This record gives sequence, C-alpha cells and structure tokens, in this order.
Amino acid sequence: MSLDDNDVNILTALQANGRLSYRQISERVGVSVPTVSSKVNTMENQGVIRGYRASLDPERLGEMSTVVAIKARPADLSRVSEYFIDDAVVRQLFFLSCGRLLLMCTFTRVHEINEFASRLSTIPELLEYDVANVIAVGKEEDRAVVAPGLQVVMPCSQCGRQMREEPLKLRKNGKEFYLCSPTCLSAFNSKDSSARSVT
Ligand SMILES: [Zn+2]
Repeated sequence: MSLDDNDVNILTALQANGRLSYRQISERVGVSVPTVSSKVNTMENQGVIRGYRASLDPERLGEMSTVVAIKARPADLSRVSEYFIDDAVVRQLFFLSCGRLLLMCTFTRVHEINEFASRLSTIPELLEYDVANVIAVGKEEDRAVVAPGLQVVMPCSQCGRQMREEPLKLRKNGKEFYLCSPTCLSAFNSKDSSARSVT
C-alpha cells in the first residue's frame, strides 16, 4: 500500500507538531479538512501513526541514559528480551543481527545503573554485555523518516504475514482490516462472525 504525496505531507506536518488541528493541516498541505480527517484516520488505523504524546526531555528532568549491548545465542535472544520487556528503565529494545540486543535505558538515580548492571550478570543466557553511559545527546529524532514514495507494510489480520503488496480490505464494525489472500479473508471473516455469535 503506497502513501500519496498528501499522506506524506500530512505525516511531515504531524511529525513536526502532533497538536496541529485538521484545519491547520489542511491549510499547510492544501487539501480539504474532510480529506485530512479521513487520511489521518486511515493512517492511525494502519498503525503508521502510533499515537500523539508530549516529547519529554530526560536531561531536563535530571535523568541519565545508558546504552546496553547484549550478546546471546540467537536461539536465546527472545528469552533474554523477556527479562527486560516489563522493566520501566528499558525504554527501547532492539533485536539486532548476529545474536545481539540493544537496549536504550533511562535511570532517575545513579545507583539504579549499578543495580541494573549487576542484574545483567545474573542472566544465564547472556554471553557478553557492554554498558555505556550517555554523556551528551548530539541528536535525537524519531526513527521514522518521512519521504515521498513510502510504502505501508502491514501484517495480515489473519496470518500475520507482513504485506508489501496491496492487501485485500475488509470493513467490519466500522473498522478496516487488511488481509493477504482470499483464503485469509474468508478465514478471518468466519472467525469474526463465530466470535460474535458466542458473545
Ligand atoms: Zn494472511
């Protein structure tokens, strides 16, 4: 599913300022307010727009950030990640190639960094780790880059396969679902109706 130029311009405006009204966006992008509204709704539904929130400055809040690189056997990576998934100090967790995890952590107190590092050494599946404190932030932007010609990559609502091609669309209960094949479409359709008949 590709984004047209208006989608791209709307995303550019919203990424810079998530508090813009539909009217302000329509003036900047040069399309009608209803068009902005429907395009924003679609991109929210597709998960392209994840949400709107205040961007807080951790340094201004006196917090300290740490980059943690972890090496484990590729087969153990997902188990290792479970140690961190609910930990509030782990703000971002990336699965990397070559059996590595990258954690971006933020701490409110210095002693928490040491506690976190000693907790790392108790994880049996962990082969190696490296902890480095952030001493200054040179640049920090959202990871998404808005550029012309972007494609939306969606998981099939039935089988979960990531679709780069144009998906089949199913509108149900006012929501749009995206399916990869007629087989997934009919399976999803019948699953949904049987779920409703149970409730
Ligand atoms: Zn599918």
